Amino acid sequence: MKKIALVMAIAAISLSQSAFGWGRVGHDTIACIAERNISPKARKIIEKYLGHSIIYYASWMDDYRNAPGYEHTTMWHGGSVDENMKSTDAVRNPKGDCVAELENAIERLKHYRELDDSTVVVNLKYVIHLVGDMHCPSHVYYPGLKVRKVKLMGRETGYHRVWDRGVIDASHLWSYSEYADQLDRLSRREIKAITTGTPTEWFEENARNCRVIYDWAHDGSDLGRPFVNEASRLVDDQLMKAGYRLAKVLDDLF
Ligand SMILES: [Zn+2]
Repeated sequence: MKKIALVMAIAAISLSQSAFGWGRVGHDTIACIAERNISPKARKIIEKYLGHSIIYYASWMDDYRNAPGYEHTTMWHGGSVDENMKSTDAVRNPKGDCVAELENAIERLKHYRELDDSTVVVNLKYVIHLVGDMHCPSHVYYPGLKVRKVKLMGRETGYHRVWDRGVIDASHLWSYSEYADQLDRLSRREIKAITTGTPTEWFEENARNCRVIYDWAHDGSDLGRPFVNEASRLVDDQLMKAGYRLAKVLDDLF
């Protein structure tokens, strides 16, 4: 009996971990890039509401996804596309997904002056996190594509987790601010090109760019240094885009 309980507890832990978006370093890096690129005015208003920087709450949604009162947010961390890489109503999870809920939160925050403070705060936490999650390669769900267990640098792990934090942990070993130093180097013109578009368009672009991860691995693949080298370029690109796009969303709102 004890053994079954232990196995179930381990399964529950690995399931909950496997569902997290970018690990803390990833989310903090995205928020740090965003913080460095938002206007002083927007930053001041946001910090007045949060009582902290946006980095402080970058992983809040992961920490609270099963907390009482927030169970409805559990499924919000990823999103599906159809075979044409489109995020249509037909493939959207009725329990919510990262794109729809990001758009809902943005819509509510457009009227932030009329909302009570706690509503503004929670919607800000959604925006800060969901822009990150929708750029995480393993948070785009494709019809018929799934890789469960692989080996990364000799250790067995879930493929989802490889993208949440495995690649980051196996590559640079930077703190979030050092990571942001390295990624936040684009010109104004380049940033403008990246931040044009809507969250749905960004998500569909992510789907096209990240589809390749299912060519790189299959169940049981033994992923070593060549994989990490290739994968970290995709991770860096996704973190950088998410950072600039989060700044754009916040700047437009505040
Ligand atoms: Zn998440």
